[in-house]
Amino acid sequence: MASGRAPGILYADKLWDPLAGCTRKSAACRNCYAETLTSEAAAAGESWAQGFAEKGSWTGKVDLRKDRLALPLEWDEPARVFVNALSDLFHESLDNAVIDQIFAVMALSPQHTFLVLTKRPKTMQPYMADKATPVRIEQAMAALSPDGPKLPAWPLPNVWLGVTAENQKEADRRIPLLLETPAARRFAAAEPLLEKVDFKPGTWLKNGGGGLDWIVAGGEIGPGANKCQPDWARALRDQCAAQNTAFFWTQWGTHDAGDGAGMAADASSAESSARRLLDGTLHDALPS
Ligand code: SF4
Repeated sequence: MASGRAPGILYADKLWDPLAGCTRKSAACRNCYAETLTSEAAAAGESWAQGFAEKGSWTGKVDLRKDRLALPLEWDEPARVFVNALSDLFHESLDNAVIDQIFAVMALSPQHTFLVLTKRPKTMQPYMADKATPVRIEQAMAALSPDGPKLPAWPLPNVWLGVTAENQKEADRRIPLLLETPAARRFAAAEPLLEKVDFKPGTWLKNGGGGLDWIVAGGEIGPGANKCQPDWARALRDQCAAQNTAFFWTQWGTHDAGDGAGMAADASSAESSARRLLDGTLHDALPS
C-alpha cells in the first residue's frame, strides 16, 4: 500500500505485513514496490510469495499471512507500525473475517499506534461504520487470546486511518469518504505526489480539528517517475500551516528537487539531507 516506496517508511518505526498480494487501483500504483518485491520473492522460491505475483505482475490473489498475523503482540517496545506495506487491508477480495483478525491484533496491542493506509475507502467506510464490526472483532480477539482483554473502544484509539491522495481526482474521491469513516485519527498520503493538490483548507483541513489530522507527502520513486515540482510541495506545506495541520515531507523521489527547494540549510550535510528538506527545512510533524 505504500505506492512504490522502499521498506523504510520514514513516518513509521516498524512495518507489519499480515497480508500478501494486491491489485493496482490508481496512478499511485504504477511503480508499486510491493508488486516487484513479491514477484522477485516468488521467483526466488520464497514460500510466502507463491501465487501472489509472477513475472513482475500481481496475479490477483490476496490473502492472510498467518505466520505474520500475531507479530505485534511480540513487540514490547511501543512503536508506530505501518500496516500492509505489501498489500491493502481493504482490498475488495478480502472477507471481513480476514480484516477482523488484523483489527483484533491491533486491539490486543494497545502499546502500539497502527497506521492503516488504503486506496479503497469505499470498502473501509462501510466496514468501520457497521455496528456488527466491533462485535466480530471482539470474537476474533477471544479466538486469538481467550484470556485477553475486551475491545477497549470503537473505533480503536490506537489505529489511524489514511487514504492515498496522489492527485486531485483521487483526493476528491477518497478524502470525503475518509472523513465519513469512524477513526481515532485520519490522514492523507499525497505520495507519490503527481500534481498540485488542493486539500480544501477550511473543509478537509480545519484549524481546531474535525478534518484531516495529518498530511504525509513525497515524490515518486521508480522507472519513469514523475518529477515532483517544488510548488506542489510548497502548496501542501502552506495549506497545512494555515490550518495548523501536521505535515510530514518524506523525500523528493527519484528526481532531485528543482529551484533549490531541497537545499540544506547547512551545506556540509546537503548531500544526505537535501532529499528530505523543503526550502531548507525538515518537515516531520505528527498529529498531536
Ligand atoms: S494499492 Fe498499494 S500494494 Fe496495492 S498495487 Fe497499489 S501501491 Fe501496490
